[in-house]
Amino acid sequence: MSFSKLGLNRSLVDALAQKGYDTPTPIQAQSIPALLEGDDLLGIAQTGTGKTAAFMLPSIQRLVAANERVKPMRCRMLILAPTRELASQIAQSAKEYGRYTKLRVATVFGGVPIARNRRDLGSGVDILVATPGRLLDLIDQKCLALSDVEILVLDEADQMLDLGFIHALKRIIPMLPKDRQSLFFSATMPKAIRDLAGQFLTDPTEVRVTPVASTAERVEQYVTFVNQKEKQALLTLFLENNEIERALIFTRTKHGADRVVKLLAGNGIEAVAIHGNKSQPQREKALGAFRSGRVKLLVATDIAARGIDVSGVSHVINFELPNVAEQYVHRIGRTARAGNDGIAFAFCAEDERPYLRGIEKLTRQKVEVVPLPDNFLTEAERIKETRVGPVPAERPDRPRKPRQDRGPRRPRKTHDAKPANAQRKRRPGGGQRRRGSKSQG
Ligand code: AMP
Repeated sequence: MSFSKLGLNRSLVDALAQKGYDTPTPIQAQSIPALLEGDDLLGIAQTGTGKTAAFMLPSIQRLVAANERVKPMRCRMLILAPTRELASQIAQSAKEYGRYTKLRVATVFGGVPIARNRRDLGSGVDILVATPGRLLDLIDQKCLALSDVEILVLDEADQMLDLGFIHALKRIIPMLPKDRQSLFFSATMPKAIRDLAGQFLTDPTEVRVTPVASTAERVEQYVTFVNQKEKQALLTLFLENNEIERALIFTRTKHGADRVVKLLAGNGIEAVAIHGNKSQPQREKALGAFRSGRVKLLVATDIAARGIDVSGVSHVINFELPNVAEQYVHRIGRTARAGNDGIAFAFCAEDERPYLRGIEKLTRQKVEVVPLPDNFLTEAERIKETRVGPVPAERPDRPRKPRQDRGPRRPRKTHDAKPANAQRKRRPGGGQRRRGSKSQG
């Protein structure tokens, strides 16, 4: 199956080829023909399935074909997304896929000066990606009207509801022209979401891909039982002993994310954090460093990580397990994107065991247990000492230089030589494989 067989024209196929994509993913194969026909669509799919291209490609083709001139302070395609990161990524995809067209793309979301949004919208844009709150602010300030929207996309609807955007959405719907094409995506489809979809869509084509369990099947998953206060040492050891291309580390709280970054820095390991307390420039800087590969470790909370698309995430580390099992599947879905396999590790404290049971029930899979390494206690001691040594409290609060500017890393005194053992690559601290064991730190 090729993109041109689905009905996409040359300029889009060329733009896809530039990204190295020549085969449609299942959601693309199922959605693109229907969307080119102008159908409404209900997509049950999560990120990682290729859904952005699934809705963006046919929409670009239709916008170009309709050849309408956009009026000032109007947009032709409106995409609503729950988070700023997702909105930026969607806009980026729109620009890449539409590189051989003249379509104008803009984003509006909170955290950037509204004056900039007003300027961007002044002469109108073809494709607007927005979070609902900022969109309404701009409408209220009469900087934007939705009367010319030809295509509406609501992305990650379940997350929208979780974040309390329902009232904003209910205000937005009546402002849209009735004669439009509507697309609605959600990873899950409980009744509240289906009801909401019913308000947006007319006789939609329904497409369902990657049920939750199958994402989990593509990821190698491991868990180590460890006391909460020893997790930091285990993480440090894990990062020292494994070949990490890029890892996403999840914590439950914003404070926890900052703490992990600080303690890793204390052990000479550079990481950046992204969470709701960070300003927009800070988030963008952290994501940029992670994307470019300058920093290999990104510590994130669930909300901040939702929808982040970075290729080459080799490991997802659940420093803390989420209390909602589906969240675990979203987290580990950050690795294993678009068909690649990935590796996920969880550090599970005693009080998190019920969460683990919930996860195993949802995914209908047992997560393989990896015990703590034999020398864990000694190693943990060493790591603690390193931490309370010259770092980080005694360091003045100034930006850290990138690793390469700081000269080579000093060899660690107590650290064993690492055998080039493939198994080590995916076991925290290099512990032995033992199915079903329940060692506790
Ligand atoms: P999404 O589900 O839209 O977040 O996309 C997940 C990832 O898959 C992104 O990195 C896309 O760029 C990538 N992707 C989308 N379509 C394809 C394709 N047909 N082949 C390979 N990768 C793709």
